[in-house]
Amino acid sequence: MFNSIGVIGLGVMGSNIALNMASKGEQVAVYNYTRDLTDQLVAKLDNQSLKPYYEIEDFVQSLEAPRKVFLMVTAGKAIDSVIHSLLPHLETGDIIMDGGNSHYVDTERRYDELKAKGISYLGIGVSGGEVGALKGPSIMPGGDKDAYEKVAPILTKISAKVNNDPCCTYIGPKGSGHFVKMVHNGIEYADMQLIAEAYTFLREKLHLEVNEIADIFETWNQGELKSYLIEITAEILRKKDEVTGLPLIDVILDKAGQKGTGKWTSMQAIDNGIPASIITEALFARYISALKEERVNAEKILTGPKTVQQKLDKNEWIDYIRQALYMGKVCAYAQGFTQYKMSSELNGWDLPLKDIALIFRGGCIIRAEFLNVISEAYQEQPNLANLLISPYFAEKVTDYQAGLRKVVCEGITSGISFPCLSSSLNFYDSYRKGISNANILQAQRDYFGAHTYERRDLAGVFHTDWQ
Ligand code: NDP
Repeated sequence: MFNSIGVIGLGVMGSNIALNMASKGEQVAVYNYTRDLTDQLVAKLDNQSLKPYYEIEDFVQSLEAPRKVFLMVTAGKAIDSVIHSLLPHLETGDIIMDGGNSHYVDTERRYDELKAKGISYLGIGVSGGEVGALKGPSIMPGGDKDAYEKVAPILTKISAKVNNDPCCTYIGPKGSGHFVKMVHNGIEYADMQLIAEAYTFLREKLHLEVNEIADIFETWNQGELKSYLIEITAEILRKKDEVTGLPLIDVILDKAGQKGTGKWTSMQAIDNGIPASIITEALFARYISALKEERVNAEKILTGPKTVQQKLDKNEWIDYIRQALYMGKVCAYAQGFTQYKMSSELNGWDLPLKDIALIFRGGCIIRAEFLNVISEAYQEQPNLANLLISPYFAEKVTDYQAGLRKVVCEGITSGISFPCLSSSLNFYDSYRKGISNANILQAQRDYFGAHTYERRDLAGVFHTDWQ
């Protein structure tokens, strides 16, 4: 009997994806270029639904046609190397899927190279981490639609479900699936940083204990802020360190790591004139956090404001922070979805924004209750310029801006940095203004470089002899 699908790369994600496929009734061939991971994985299942292979040729020959090969290997050169080893054994019409975090530009190159050889290539964004891979991730497939349709029954079966709807939908051509995953991760950076800033306010300005903050996050998770990241933050805050007995959060070193998808999101936005300031601030916040030794030294030299500490009303301010966090999240998702819209137009991808919001509701790291409303906003207005101007969110941010303003002002006067909360407010205040201060910039550019300017009252391009 032939295997219905093959998985290559049996690390954290690949092994769990393979187990997920096997648990849904697929007959799965598994292969890893080192033997141990294959043996460890196969030992986990009593039945025969995972079949190990130790030679790539045997692995490929075991698959039913058209062959469906799912790669879950380290992004970068490893993908090219695995494709290179597969190619001599594949036939026209076979399908390679890359489920890792490949850069979408690499995916477009691989798509073109493989298309010329008659092989279909799907770049598949997968989000959900280890548990999601096993129990149901959010899946964002890009490539040729006819190739997608051949693998759709398996992908939808293994994806997360929300109200029985699979969190998997065809995204669009070529690298668009990996692009959508990339920006998903950018939004994730912003969402995480916003939560960290809300925590900072509760801890440093309201002087709450870690357990009390966990209670607040749990309460928030029962309302409109309900999301995976809020939920896990509450759980993180409850965890005690086994060595010291302190809250574990207090012994974790304050240096953030990153693997590049947030940076790629910012770089793509910058290259294409897309305002992704909140995501970029979140990225820079990680970079600044990494300068731990410099920060420790600077703390001895540089001082903050000499403010008299005012006692803040706890309950009143907890609600301001809730409003600030919600509004910050709306602004961050609004920027991410604008990045989808503008990039879709630039690349002719026709990204289904309404459906992207729906498949983010389950399985993935940024899953959140308000994705339902985001989806509805795009259902009502598929060409919506920005989520902020949809009737629902326009009303929300009109109400919640007071909380965000208070929190950001309090942070500024106290010398606490809130890069993403303040960036959200700056974005909101600049986006809602019909007239900006860019007239000064245009005049300066014309003054020193004769770059010309346009006028508000007359058509055409003008230059002034300023001196
Ligand atoms: P792991 O490091 O656990 O696994 C990587 C796999 O790739 C291993 O099986 C490894 O084999 C294999 N591999 C590495 N180099 C080569 C090579 N040159 N040739 C063949 N195989 C190779 O990573 P993850 O499972 O966490 O991640 C896999 C992909 O999924 C990455 O692109 C990652 O960004 C993405 N991803 C990860 C998520 C997560 O939460 N971890 C979430 C979503 C996507 P060996 O160990 O034998 O070297």
